[in-house]
Amino acid sequence: MADTNLTAILYAKGDIRLEDTSIPEPGPGQVQLCMQHVGICGSDVHYWQHGNIGDFVVKAPMILGHEAAGIVSKIGDGVTSLKIGDRVAIEPGVPCRRCMDCKRGRYNLCPDMAFCATPPIHGNLARYYVHDADFCYKLPDHVSTEEGALLEPLSVGVHACKRAGVTLGTKVLICGAGPIGLVNLLTAKACGASVVCVTDLDEKRLAMAKEMGADHVVKITSKDPKEMADKIVETFGERPDVTIECSGAPPSTRTAILSTRSGGCVVLVGMGPSSVELPVMDAAVREVDIRGIFRYVNCYPTALNMVASGSVNVKPLITHRFKLEQTMDAFETTLRGDGIKVMIECKK
Ligand code: NAD
Ligand code: ZN
Repeated sequence: MADTNLTAILYAKGDIRLEDTSIPEPGPGQVQLCMQHVGICGSDVHYWQHGNIGDFVVKAPMILGHEAAGIVSKIGDGVTSLKIGDRVAIEPGVPCRRCMDCKRGRYNLCPDMAFCATPPIHGNLARYYVHDADFCYKLPDHVSTEEGALLEPLSVGVHACKRAGVTLGTKVLICGAGPIGLVNLLTAKACGASVVCVTDLDEKRLAMAKEMGADHVVKITSKDPKEMADKIVETFGERPDVTIECSGAPPSTRTAILSTRSGGCVVLVGMGPSSVELPVMDAAVREVDIRGIFRYVNCYPTALNMVASGSVNVKPLITHRFKLEQTMDAFETTLRGDGIKVMIECKK
């Protein structure tokens, strides 16, 4: 194992540097991890390009990366759940555990959440990283650390499908075929959805959705939400029960509401502008519920079981692989939108 800690640090907008940092030591209840794989998320690229996401501003150098898996290399005091050599997926957000949101079991809403690579909290795109042991999930031997890293986006799909109420026989519309749309596709299928239709502007992304099991795809060719909703309803032969909006594009959010059956549900996963004009009267008079999601809560164990049992195959999501030393190439590739998931191998 490496005796130095090569680390990918975002200094400010447009300025990522690879530097050696000191190897962190685990505190009580924590483990030190020899990092294996970290996937790049749109948010990592957004911080690099813009220096902020909404009110989260990079004011001091921040280590990137939060879709991660590693091998336990040191154990802090009091840790009994893991041992050195265990391969684990890292749930990147550690909540305060004490506030009412945490106590209600909705720790993803904790106002004091410490989430990797959301300023000012460091991420784990490094050789070594320290994390609370109870937010690390031991991987069975047949689940790779690449798959472990993919539990992070997959958990977003699990949470969205739970909030949407996807179950046996549900007809599901997924708007946007990026990594998040695709993990929702995989999860909806695993939940027993009978028909899943995926939309996007991009033919290549729609082709990927087809390959990953979409029953139908609809190419978005107009900003007119009614026109696109009609096209979607025609494709299903009726309105979908549930729509999971994964693009964040305002026209798509409008289409999501107009497409969904009366009494159905639209889940907002995509994050676009903070205020968007929506056909709320249509939602009101047809009792279409509009629900938000924020990341995931208690979803890692489910995501892991889905991968371990073979009910989803996340491996095809990975389209590019780089070494930690090639972090800049990995970010440039993600920025170009060439593939779906860019994976970085962190071990020496
Ligand atoms: P992405 O940019 O790779 O994918 C978005 C896709 O939407 C693209 O393929 C794009 O072509 C497509 N698109 C754009 N306009 C469209 C339209 N009008 N109709 C249909 N498709 C359209 O992003 P991603 O990584 O897949 O993430 C998707 C969204 O989910 C982002 O907004 C991201 O911020 C958000 N997100 C939210 C959460 C959460 O907790 N709520 C978690 C992770 C990601
Ligand atoms: Zn809390």
